[in-house]
Amino acid sequence: MFETVIGLEVHCQLNTKTKIFCGCSTSFGEEPNTHVCPTCLALPGALPVLNSQAVKKAISFGKAINATVNKKSIFDRKNYFYPDLPKAYQISQFTIPIVENGELIIKVGDKNKRIGITRAHLEEDAGKNSHESKSSLVDLNRAGTPLLEIVSEPDIRSSDEAVAYLKKLHSILRFLNISDANMQEGSFRCDVNVSIRPKGDEKLYTRVEIKNLNSFRFIQKAIEYEVERQCEAWEDGRYDSEVVQETRLFDTTKLITKPMRSKEDSAEYRYFPDPDLLPVIIPDELMEEASILPELPDEKRARYISEFGIKESDADVIISSYEMAKYFEDLIAGTNSPKLCVTWLTVELLGRLKNGVTIETSPVNSAKLSTLLNRIEDGTISQKAAKDVLDVIIESDEDIDSVIDRLGLKQVSDDSAILSIIDTVLAANEDKVAEYKSGKDKLFGFFVGQVMKEGKGAFNPAKVNELLKTKLG
Ligand code: ADP
Ligand code: MG
Ligand code: ZN
Repeated sequence: MFETVIGLEVHCQLNTKTKIFCGCSTSFGEEPNTHVCPTCLALPGALPVLNSQAVKKAISFGKAINATVNKKSIFDRKNYFYPDLPKAYQISQFTIPIVENGELIIKVGDKNKRIGITRAHLEEDAGKNSHESKSSLVDLNRAGTPLLEIVSEPDIRSSDEAVAYLKKLHSILRFLNISDANMQEGSFRCDVNVSIRPKGDEKLYTRVEIKNLNSFRFIQKAIEYEVERQCEAWEDGRYDSEVVQETRLFDTTKLITKPMRSKEDSAEYRYFPDPDLLPVIIPDELMEEASILPELPDEKRARYISEFGIKESDADVIISSYEMAKYFEDLIAGTNSPKLCVTWLTVELLGRLKNGVTIETSPVNSAKLSTLLNRIEDGTISQKAAKDVLDVIIESDEDIDSVIDRLGLKQVSDDSAILSIIDTVLAANEDKVAEYKSGKDKLFGFFVGQVMKEGKGAFNPAKVNELLKTKLG
């Protein structure tokens, strides 16, 4: 009877080398307050200078989501007081953002659904507070890191759709290489706005905003909890008193949301154009340069299917992250068989990565795996033996050929060795040979099995097949 209505705000840090309004480094995890200067410390008289790389990355994002990129946009001051904000205002974009009216297509079941993106604007990140028992500390290294705030329309109808949207957005940012989009390090942060309404009702009801969500699982859980809380309040006649416009925090141990503060209206921020910054007018050359996009996940998926003939479900696994797609493309470049690459990446390698090891940190890189696949392709070892080799090289950095030698895995492809066994097997089974020659084709498999068994599994099966066929006529 109720419908869930969700709109998402994502803050992603752009991966520029320097901050958005000064030359300080943006690198993460450094000694506190070592990447600061008069501008990002807000010392009197220091002036901001806009980083063109941040603008370029924002334009590319706009193009990738089919949006309008405004040739002219404006930086405004968003005023509020907090210790991690040295100027007591954040430079942001309010009236005219750089990007407007975009869209993202997500998969819901087997249907495509369009989610509108209202706007994406540039702003500066704040510093970071940490609280100790008797004092609080402020680290301003992060202050001034460029952020792109991406605001969706309230088009999302379930926690599954929310996660699908965020994953899609995440992968676009990574494939564009405009953000590390690392949730743990806070370079991809999401606020979730949730409301409910009776099915069929068009109007928007009171929304709450949930903050402090740094994993897809928590986002899912937070939405599920919040929807249930609002529906129960409605059914028990407590909706008007209990569902109020506010900001709530997600408790990651109890998996519930709790009120944090009442939601401020934009009027409270006293936005006004920043007199220290001119309007941003994008030069034509920059607009053109930033509009040339790398291949995005949907395009890669389609190309993998048509060019390499791989299955849709395999293509989905491979484009699930930028690193995976890159690994796959490097792997394919070093081998001749896309099918072999797919199985050995998605089944054999991924199946062996445990304990949080990812494709990025995989001890077997794409060059090593392609060497291994080459040994299968040229008949040096069988696929079965290659699995043993992979087991070894995932634990140590022993050379592939030395593992093959040490474990005696080399296949025998030498004709005379195989032929002599074939002769022995056929001589010992004269009755079966006669049956085969009189039409019992199925016996062929039996001969192959016998020869392979005598060869102790070291014979190249393709070679055995070939020689047996000639021998039997
Ligand atoms: P603010 O800046 O105050 O958070 P915005 O206008 O930027 O407000 O909207 C924030 C988000 O809330 C947007 O993603 C929007 O789609 C979403 N939203 C607005 N109204 C609702 C609602 N009733 N239910 C769910 N989401 C909503
Ligand atoms: Mg907002
Ligand atoms: Zn600085």
